[in-house]
Amino acid sequence: MSRIQIEGVTRRFAGARRDAGPVTAVDRVWIDVADGEFLVLLGPSGCGKSTLLRMVAGLTAPSAGRILLDGRDITATPPRDRDLAMVFQSYALYPHLSVGRNIGFPLRTRGRRRADIDARVAEVAAVLGLEGLLDRRPRALSGGQRQRVALARALVRDPGAFLLDEPLSNLDATLRTATRAELGDLHRRLGATFLYVTHDQVEAMTMATRVAVLNGGRLEQLGTPEEVYDAPASVFVAGFIGSPAIRLLPARLWSDAGELRAVGADLEIPLGPGEDPDGRDVLVGARPEHVRLAAPGATGPLWRGTVRLVENLGGEEVAHVAVGGHDEPGSRIAVRGPRPLGLAVGNAVALTCDPDRVH
Ligand code: ADP
Repeated sequence: MSRIQIEGVTRRFAGARRDAGPVTAVDRVWIDVADGEFLVLLGPSGCGKSTLLRMVAGLTAPSAGRILLDGRDITATPPRDRDLAMVFQSYALYPHLSVGRNIGFPLRTRGRRRADIDARVAEVAAVLGLEGLLDRRPRALSGGQRQRVALARALVRDPGAFLLDEPLSNLDATLRTATRAELGDLHRRLGATFLYVTHDQVEAMTMATRVAVLNGGRLEQLGTPEEVYDAPASVFVAGFIGSPAIRLLPARLWSDAGELRAVGADLEIPLGPGEDPDGRDVLVGARPEHVRLAAPGATGPLWRGTVRLVENLGGEEVAHVAVGGHDEPGSRIAVRGPRPLGLAVGNAVALTCDPDRVH
């Protein structure tokens, strides 16, 4: 049983350099992590993810707000008295201890009996496939094995919740994909609460039950992976989730005989029945995987532009199209689909998507 309630938590730091002002690393964040959830804190470098996780672990004190574990206020509880285990990016293994002694370390510091420790280490090693490695030193292990030892050491105390700070970032791409699947599987088997920090949206989308998207210390959106993908709550989330993410271009809303349209340079997007008497300025776009070439004379959303770049992703291609003079890489409309897309640099193209895919 481990529910973690993060209630209005803020953390300010004095400037890291003498000439720098104070930093609000985490700014009034509220997150209620349900028992058994796999909640991912996602955002770019410096958005406050690690600071938030460290506050839950008790390694950093909040400047304001409180943290509850199963309804108990633990804001001032020392780290070792919280029923939580932390796994760091660096694994933080003791180089002079064998794998078995590394895994058993948290039990030894709690004065458990040798025989009990050995039995529990063997049990946890079996869960993570480390049985044959218990006598080795960490330096004789691969990155993936070290990562599993760090997990085993967290698991050995059978904590109510696991706090993981970018645990896969030191692994190469292939191993990262495999370990991602293993972690998801481990979470299902343990039924424990996972609070997991990453800047990698693929990790968030594949493993999380819910994702908390952070930006500049603030919570931008909290929702299931489907919710943050289908209905991003802010321009930041729209531009952060997806590969490439949604490219939004400026347009103005017009209503014409009860139909609402977003109209901008070289783009015209029907938005269905509606009125907007103010002619509001908006940003409009669609996910690259939902954009496709428009048939001549087709009705529906329409972007007109010129192909500037075609990227080969292996099985797929992404074409980047400059629309309405917006030719900075981040504002080209992207089209993603099976290779070959049939587009070449310099082509003049008309693009469309299903109306309900427009953001
Ligand atoms: P993330 O984990 O998302 O990369 P961090 O939580 O590490 O972000 O940092 C958030 C912000 O707080 C950054 O601007 C960082 O420079 C600042 N920060 C983090 N720790 C400290 C510290 N001990 N002293 C001063 N500033 C810090």
